[in-house]
Amino acid sequence: MIIPEFEYVSPQSVQEACALLVQYGDSARVLAGGSDLLVKMKDGLMKPAYLVSLKNLDSLKAIRYETGTGVIIGARATHNEVMNNRLLQEKYRSVCEAAHSMAADQIRNIGTVGGNLVNAVPSADLPPILIALDARARIVGSSGERTIALEDFFLGPGKTVLEKGEILAAIIIPDQPTTGSNYIKFGLRRAGALAVAGVASSVTVSDGTCRDVRVVLGAVAPTPMRARQAENVLRGKKISRELIDETGRIAAAESKPISDIRGSIEYRRNLVNVLTRRSLKAAIEKGHI
Ligand SMILES: Cc1cc2nc3c(=O)[nH]c(=O)nc-3n(C[C@H](O)[C@H](O)[C@H](O)COP(=O)(O)OP(=O)(O)OC[C@H]3O[C@@H](n4cnc5c(N)ncnc54)[C@H](O)[C@@H]3O)c2cc1C
Repeated sequence: MIIPEFEYVSPQSVQEACALLVQYGDSARVLAGGSDLLVKMKDGLMKPAYLVSLKNLDSLKAIRYETGTGVIIGARATHNEVMNNRLLQEKYRSVCEAAHSMAADQIRNIGTVGGNLVNAVPSADLPPILIALDARARIVGSSGERTIALEDFFLGPGKTVLEKGEILAAIIIPDQPTTGSNYIKFGLRRAGALAVAGVASSVTVSDGTCRDVRVVLGAVAPTPMRARQAENVLRGKKISRELIDETGRIAAAESKPISDIRGSIEYRRNLVNVLTRRSLKAAIEKGHI
């Protein structure tokens, strides 16, 4: 199918982009890499009259460290830029690995962090690991800026807290005592497949004791979800194989999967159990974040 006609607008500042989104209302969509939006338009699933491109907004592209704030990942950073970024490789390699687990080079070269999050697809690969690292979403609108926990960003499949005229500007990973983190995804092929289930974890371990832990499940609920009961099994305890096995079982029980073309409810719960155990073991053993 041919992409329906639209007007392409290319604002020179974030403020101008927000003003245009307010002006055009429901007839406009933000265009980042286009790897999702243009496919939907081609398939006739979306017909925006205006595409407000972020292409010229270089302030949304940088990946940098700010003392007192943490690592800031611009929403326009592509998956390959995340994957190859030295700062992230040193501080949060698990985020680079999650970016690497996605699609193929063609998509990773154009697909952006912002697009991956705003899409709010339950199987998306970046949300679980970013939530496991307690990331925040910096949102800019025509009336100002707000920063919220990324955990609270997702409302349901395709739905986020973004309001009319708002743009996701950046993701912030705050400084933290985390000693290890990890993301494991299971797809039906080795490469280029969407997650049937994905599990991210971050741990703070000292003297063999789990001081803190976050377990985040992907593709097994309408939004990425913290497995809080599973976390409580491990938090504050001496780490043992039995405890990690129990954490996996509780995470599986907490998950809320559906049956679809990629897997049944039972299959996904089983995956959550296995992946949670693997992800935690890797995060604990890694000893680097
Ligand atoms: C072949 C293929 C394989 C894929 N494999 C994977 C995979 O393995 N894992 C995975 O997670 N995803 C996968 N995807 C999905 C998709 O490519 C990614 O989610 C990508 O990150 C989308 O980013 P984009 O910049 O191309 O978004 P776009 O298509 O430009 O935009 C997507 C949506 O987000 C909105 N948007 C984009 N940026 C912003 C912003 N900063 N502020 C506000 N709104 C914004 C747009 O208006 C649109 O609604 C795949 C897609 C394809 C086509």
